[in-house]
Amino acid sequence: MIKDNYNKKKTVFSCEVFPPKRNDDIYDIFKTLDEIKLLNPDFISVTYGAGGSNSKKTATIAAYIQNICEVDALAHMTAVGLDDNSLTELLEELNRKQVQNVLALRGDKPRTMTDEEFDARYYKHASDLIKVIKDKSDMFIAAACYPESHPESKSKEEDISYLKLKADLGVDSFITQMFFDNDILYRFMDDIRKAGISVPVHAGIMPITKVNQLGTSVSLSGSSVPKKLSNLIAKYAEDPEGMKKAGTEYAIEQVTDLIKHGVDGIHIYSMNKSDVTTEIYKAAF
Ligand code: FAD
Repeated sequence: MIKDNYNKKKTVFSCEVFPPKRNDDIYDIFKTLDEIKLLNPDFISVTYGAGGSNSKKTATIAAYIQNICEVDALAHMTAVGLDDNSLTELLEELNRKQVQNVLALRGDKPRTMTDEEFDARYYKHASDLIKVIKDKSDMFIAAACYPESHPESKSKEEDISYLKLKADLGVDSFITQMFFDNDILYRFMDDIRKAGISVPVHAGIMPITKVNQLGTSVSLSGSSVPKKLSNLIAKYAEDPEGMKKAGTEYAIEQVTDLIKHGVDGIHIYSMNKSDVTTEIYKAAF
């Protein structure tokens, strides 16, 4: 059980994979998981496609993690794309597949959805989903948190008050949005602990191994990029191997410092790459 690890371990180790777009690539992710499993992670999470696209693949990959890799699987799910019936079906499917852990999210507006359709979603927020999952199941429930506040929040205080709501509803752990400056995480931890949130928090670490990663996932997250990292990106703009090495080293430094500071957990956004995840794990843990 994921929950037990927080009492047993100094730092809980987990990582994230995402379902491949092409059906044919499902065996590639299975191979990646076979490699990540060798690190004995405490759990592996699987993302849920925007608006519920690819949701079948999320359940299939989570079942592989749980039953073939024999590692606890955490299946992401989003309020966007779910209603009462489809949520019940999804929980039943995960249960049939022995997956007992979920990451409950609101989700973002998929490109194919209009603003009206997005606003009309059945569950408005992650907290609405969490309430129902609590009522309908005994699942371990994780949720997202944002060391630099969620981009839509009016203030840090407002964002933390909704985080407190998720904690009060019974969330078992939080996983942070990616961040590249550990001091931001330490300040956030002080703020949430002062607000009475005692739930374990996994620090979400995204190794930047490609120059164009900043233009895609990082800009979507709204995470700030320290000068040290943007300098590396400028330096290795024409050197993919150099960028991969420097980006991995940057992540190793981040994780080493976070462990030293006693964070509850490290969650590596693996980008489906077992080699980088393995290198970080071996160097920092
Ligand atoms: P919420 O908790 O609903 O928060 C969204 C905004 O509303 C915030 O500003 C918050 O302060 C405010 N808010 C929260 N609760 C309430 C309330 N009850 N009333 C009013 N306002 C409220 N997206 C995917 O599509 N698939 C994934 O697999 C996925 N995995 C992710 C994993 C992690 C670790 C993280 C950090 C994000 C992930 N996302 C994923 C992206 C996520 O769906 C978006 O960041 C989304 O914009 C917010 O989701 P949330 O669960 O934090 O939303």
